[in-house]
Amino acid sequence: MSGSGIRFDNVSKRFSAGSGEVLALDGVSLDIRPGELMTVVGPSGCGKSTLLDLLAGLTEPSGGELTINGSPVRGPGLDRGVVFQQYALLPWRTALGNVEFGLEAKGVPRRDRAELARGYLELVGLDGFAKRYPHELSGGMKQRVAIARSLAFDPEVLLMDEPFAALDPQTRDTLQDELLRIWSRTGKTVLFITHGIEEAVYLGQRVAVLTARPGRVKEVIDVDLPHRDAREDPRSAPEFGHYRHRVWSALRDEVSQLGASERRTEVPAQRLREVAGVGHHD
Ligand code: ADP
Ligand code: MG
Repeated sequence: MSGSGIRFDNVSKRFSAGSGEVLALDGVSLDIRPGELMTVVGPSGCGKSTLLDLLAGLTEPSGGELTINGSPVRGPGLDRGVVFQQYALLPWRTALGNVEFGLEAKGVPRRDRAELARGYLELVGLDGFAKRYPHELSGGMKQRVAIARSLAFDPEVLLMDEPFAALDPQTRDTLQDELLRIWSRTGKTVLFITHGIEEAVYLGQRVAVLTARPGRVKEVIDVDLPHRDAREDPRSAPEFGHYRHRVWSALRDEVSQLGASERRTEVPAQRLREVAGVGHHD
């Protein structure tokens, strides 16, 4: 089996906030198997993005350890591809140029880059849009470019933080199916964060439910949908309703503790560079 496993071992994360401190994560232990697609749901502000930032190496745990393929995470690296909710494309580059970005960071020779990047644009259904700039693309297309970019440098692990949350329902459904197709073709380990219960059940082999802040793993639910490979939409199967209800039940008490509205942050180009592990470019 390809891909790398991910392990959180009693991980906590504390932020200093003004004069005090915020405990975002408190003793998170979680194993994601090599090649698994795990979804994570939890109330707003419970530390989902923090979990992903830790894996991406953008921030360090205050306690505990997290490992990928048995090695502790030490900063960003090209073994991980990250897709954020905001498209995080470089506006001055074409779709093709954006996909080439990670290939440059990886040192792929110029002559090979364009061809490789074209292949990945094709994989996400964007052949014919290589020369378009981000402002000439729809939201769904921009997110496809972001996915193509994260796949292009062939990371072992894909980290996705609510990547479809800003899209219309139809585009979201299409991209969910595309992700499942790509995942089954590439065998990558995927950690997919969402606040959508249906999305979590539809995509995940397992769904990890987090508590309200400080985030802890409340429950990990195995999802076994019999209609995955059939022509019938698994969402209309009775089993789907069963799992949806289980996740909802686990979340219900946590969500009722919620106060503040969801924090949505833009991802500036600098953060993208940090993720790719390069200091500057262009
Ligand atoms: P989620 O993605 O589940 O909505 P986050 O991981 O973004 O939650 O945030 C978890 C908690 O940590 C929130 O209370 C948030 O305000 C706080 N937090 C996140 N990043 C920082 C930071 N850099 N500095 C201070 N507090 C932070
Ligand atoms: Mg978040």
